[in-house]
Amino acid sequence: MTTCLLSLGSNLGNCIDTLNSAINDIKSLKGVEDVVCASMYQTKPVGYLEQDDFINTALKIKTSLEPFILLDNLQALEQKYKRVRLFKDGPRTLDIDIIAYGNVCQEDKRLILPHPRMAQRAFVLVPLNEIASDFVFASLNKDVATLLNELPQSELDGVRKLNG
Ligand code: ADP
Ligand code: MG
Repeated sequence: MTTCLLSLGSNLGNCIDTLNSAINDIKSLKGVEDVVCASMYQTKPVGYLEQDDFINTALKIKTSLEPFILLDNLQALEQKYKRVRLFKDGPRTLDIDIIAYGNVCQEDKRLILPHPRMAQRAFVLVPLNEIASDFVFASLNKDVATLLNELPQSELDGVRKLNG
């Protein structure tokens, strides 16, 4: 079993219901165990700004699924929940990214590990820090808490924990 970190986001439709339902689907995948969930966060869009805020959360899982098989399963879930996807950074119902798969480092276009943009994204690192602050990205020799500390305050300002 390998420890993996996932980032989940939604900004179209009933985001919290979509995320909770997707988390249940992930928990029931064969080959996935020990699922730990972060809180939900409301986050300002990054990149294409003319869209609604996102709801983001993060999961830590243990899996026996190989990286591409895990990606296939997560992309099938994205399709299950996706009704509208206008363009690359536009509205969507569900985005699931593999942030890390153990200490695997690879550059395959279909699956880059660790996720190439995670170190710049408060909406990834803030939820992850709740559940995996001491997870070390071998390629950077830094853990989640350290990467979070290196983010500018302006990035953190866009991320607000829901319900407290
Ligand atoms: P982003 O998640 O960066 O906002 P998208 O979800 O639109 O962008 O990107 C999806 C594409 O990224 C898919 O084709 C997928 O195969 C590829 N991809 C590469 N690395 C990863 C990863 N670590 N996790 C999820 N998708 C990835
Ligand atoms: Mg994605």
